[in-house]
Amino acid sequence: MGGGFISFEFAHFAARLGEGGQELTILEVSERPLGPFDGEMVSLLMDASRDEGIQVRTGIQIAAIEKHASGLTVQMTGGELLTADLVVNGAGRVPNLEDLALEAGGIDHSRRGIGVDAGMRTSNPRVFAVGDCAATIQLARVADYEGLVAARNILAELGLNEGARVDYGAVPAVLFTYPQYGMVGMTEDALKQQNIPYKKIFGEKLGWPTYRRVGLKHAAYKILVGSDNRILGAHFLSDCASGLVNTLKQAMLNGTSVQDLYWQNIMSPYPTRESDLIYMLKPLL
Ligand SMILES: Cc1cc2nc3c(=O)[nH]c(=O)nc-3n(C[C@H](O)[C@H](O)[C@H](O)COP(=O)(O)OP(=O)(O)OC[C@H]3O[C@@H](n4cnc5c(N)ncnc54)[C@H](O)[C@@H]3O)c2cc1C
Repeated sequence: MGGGFISFEFAHFAARLGEGGQELTILEVSERPLGPFDGEMVSLLMDASRDEGIQVRTGIQIAAIEKHASGLTVQMTGGELLTADLVVNGAGRVPNLEDLALEAGGIDHSRRGIGVDAGMRTSNPRVFAVGDCAATIQLARVADYEGLVAARNILAELGLNEGARVDYGAVPAVLFTYPQYGMVGMTEDALKQQNIPYKKIFGEKLGWPTYRRVGLKHAAYKILVGSDNRILGAHFLSDCASGLVNTLKQAMLNGTSVQDLYWQNIMSPYPTRESDLIYMLKPLL
């Protein structure tokens, strides 16, 4: 249930269990799964998922799930029935705020979490919120980052430190599917929506030796660059996307131009996934 990153990770994990041959279906309510990720890259990941025996169905509303002696029945709105041995709920997480008496503390919150400013301060200036309970991005290292920002601001009030503000402009994320989908920064869809001019370099079904050697058919990349030659967003389908994403994250945080990034990566150890970066960036030189 749900076409978010947790469902995709569980589906790819389940596809590799036992003898294989299991039928896996992701049921997503929206018109496309993985909403915050790049639409074009998501459709490539869906192709790869199909090859693993994972079916992705969109625009599906689940009305009920019933347990029987022989398994489970998922009933969709409209009456269609699907039988399954196992149903996994990946339809999103909500912060566990009910027992915190937030109203008594004058702390504004919604179903998405506790509202905070860029210093992680809530509507009650004496209270800070960080991590999954805050209405921000729900990722492990984002929680750590927010915690450090809050701590700095608490110490700043005591005159012991400089204050700090969060910047979510270069938050990396990796979906642990096969191939992995790693992204940092903006999606092409968001750039279009916000009318931000960009150049795009894109490649799919990459036949570079790094991927040919391991037989990966669905490797792909998309790098989005602004009119100042700085990186706006980067997206990779790779068997090991983290190094690429981290390299691009550093470039974004440091404001590195694509030309400098090319030169700085000529000596990336070969044949790692990162050593392919110069092939990607070359058209932008
Ligand atoms: C299946 C799954 C896969 C994920 N994969 C990734 C991933 O690959 N990469 C990534 O970056 N993030 C991933 N995440 C998200 C990541 O786990 C969270 O963003 C991160 O754990 C948030 O940290 P946190 O400290 O805010 O909350 P948590 O890690 O949830 O910690 C909160 C703690 O507070 C305790 N607690 C709750 N209420 C109270 C209370 N009233 N009093 C005292 N203690 C309380 C809880 O028991 C818990 O121990 C994943 C999440 C899930 C569910």
